[in-house]
Amino acid sequence: MLYLLLIGCAVGLAIKPHFNAFAPLYTPEAFAAEQPLPFPQWLADFTGCTEWPGMNPPYIPLDFVNLDSLPENLENWIHAEGVCGNVASSAACSFDCYNCVMSEDVHTCPSLTQTFDDGPSPFTPTLTSALTTPLTFFTIGVNVVRFPQIYRDTANKGHIMGCHTWLHPFLPGQTNTQIVAQIEWLIWAMNATYGHLPKWFRPPYGGIDNRVRAIIHQFGMQAVLWDFDTFDWQLAANNDDFGTDAMYGSVSNFIESNDHRGLILEHDSMAHTVNIGIHLHGLIGLEQMTVPQCAGGIDYMKNFNFDK
Ligand SMILES: [Zn+2]
Repeated sequence: MLYLLLIGCAVGLAIKPHFNAFAPLYTPEAFAAEQPLPFPQWLADFTGCTEWPGMNPPYIPLDFVNLDSLPENLENWIHAEGVCGNVASSAACSFDCYNCVMSEDVHTCPSLTQTFDDGPSPFTPTLTSALTTPLTFFTIGVNVVRFPQIYRDTANKGHIMGCHTWLHPFLPGQTNTQIVAQIEWLIWAMNATYGHLPKWFRPPYGGIDNRVRAIIHQFGMQAVLWDFDTFDWQLAANNDDFGTDAMYGSVSNFIESNDHRGLILEHDSMAHTVNIGIHLHGLIGLEQMTVPQCAGGIDYMKNFNFDK
């Protein structure tokens, strides 16, 4: 077993993290300005690894994660993003296929509120400098270990830091152990950076069903979805000012039609999406909430005394 774990870590050493379409390539200056997060000794002792993993984080067994109690990845639940033809609608409660939410999912907010995914990034500080109220950021593990000081600065400003997996896979297509690995490595990175364990989890691409929910529940986390998607990353990719203006109009309409309630999906991973976020912050106004405020819940599963 130990041998297999070491192989898993070795793969991580050989293949450096890369960014998929969800995240940009950052400039060399951005990396030069940051000190990557050291790999802590406690994590080396526990995992047998010697540095943060790359594209394939190894599954490390945890005593509080009981794989036997988890649902199997049933054939009619497994699917790629957007391929929903065979997905069982009611039993799986797939958000990405059917917008299905369970009662414990947070998918809206009493006061219209922005949320930001895929950071921390070199563009995050521009956003947080402009924000006038604490919001919620769902982070990616490879970015946390690359930009730990940006993570700390964001948390120090009072923003809530949530979990968005290690490397942003579409989870309904993954095995139980692959999903656990995607979550545990990000949680360790968050703990090593700021001494806290997340309560709030946003599935990449909204990919969540009752199997993924059962896994995040074992970590004490709750899913956070949305009821308004800005598609800001797509607008950025198209460099489409007309589309951006149309989206601002849609948000204004949503504010009115939804009685100033709702939860908005945005990204702090690109310069353009950050500019959109700042503009929307002015449009929406100051009565925004953090996700725990929206849900009436705790900020983190646990906070440790930690020199930040
Ligand atoms: Zn994302």
